[in-house]
Amino acid sequence: MASSPGAKLFIIYTGGTIGMAFDDATGALVPMGFREIKYHIPEIAKLGYTFDMHAFHPPIDSSNMSPEIWIELANIIHTHYANYDGFIILHGSDTMAFTASALSFMLENLAKPVILTGSQLPMGEIRTDAKENIITTMEIAAAKKNGKARVPEVCIYFDYYLFRGNRTKKYNTETFEAFHSFNYPSLAEAGIDIKYSDQLILKYPQEPFRINTRLNADIAVLKMFPGITPHTVNAVLQTRQLKAVILETFGNGNTITAPWFIDALKQAVQEGIIVLDRTQCDGGSVELGRYATSAHLLEIGVVSAHDMTFEAAVTKLMVLLGQELTVEKVKQLLGTSLKGELTEK
Ligand code: ASP
Repeated sequence: MASSPGAKLFIIYTGGTIGMAFDDATGALVPMGFREIKYHIPEIAKLGYTFDMHAFHPPIDSSNMSPEIWIELANIIHTHYANYDGFIILHGSDTMAFTASALSFMLENLAKPVILTGSQLPMGEIRTDAKENIITTMEIAAAKKNGKARVPEVCIYFDYYLFRGNRTKKYNTETFEAFHSFNYPSLAEAGIDIKYSDQLILKYPQEPFRINTRLNADIAVLKMFPGITPHTVNAVLQTRQLKAVILETFGNGNTITAPWFIDALKQAVQEGIIVLDRTQCDGGSVELGRYATSAHLLEIGVVSAHDMTFEAAVTKLMVLLGQELTVEKVKQLLGTSLKGELTEK
């Protein structure tokens, strides 16, 4: 018997490989309902939990994920929040880190686990990783400590590791270990037991749960590379209705220092566009001013993304821009850890 018997879990099945099986008649991958999931994973019955499920019709490949669907997910969780101990989102792995990051900023004062999982091989495959991922996700979503949820945050569980959702990135398309959190340790590791690192998990909130459902996607990405031309830079910075640009920089946040480039950025900042400097490196942080090749960015008002993932930067911007905040306030919050997404220096 698993821990926390009698727990009530709510499963949202959005699509992706995890909930699919090969149809015997056609040989094609088709989405399954929860009855079929229980058929493929009979061990679920032994956990002693009760479940309800909401399945997307039709299920989507997560490459088609969108802010509208994040709002739908937040609303579903809000509707069922009081009646369940934990929430599980079955999701394609491709954009799982974006959804986990978005929800981490949309679900305010979360006191219950919201755990996303998926799989690299479909549920019906003999060597599938779906089975372990689902069973352990259920145990984590049900886990309690001193009568309270053990993991009151949005996470991704995949291949024996529980990661903070907004610290996670899909970094491998082939191995079962598809996700990694480069700048924050895992929150739990599943071996013979599930070992939780309680000191790394977000604190239980004091305020009542609520959701932020206004997002603004008027953002763009400008990725640096040697040889980048003024037409490319200007095309991005002159995007209609642009509110913020993620500048994907070298190393500790460095860029070329050509005057045409600095002037273009300076003008964008003066027009009220937020320029967020995020390193192209997976590990480590932006440190504006450490090298001369970033000192000028600091001077013109570029903001540091610290060690945020790309996924966290995109979704945090969308959520902050969706609130009615001044540009200065958005800039200040970008540099502040709201849900453990960055390491403040
Ligand atoms: N393309 C699929 C998706 O993200 C891959 C997966 O499910 O892992 O929906």
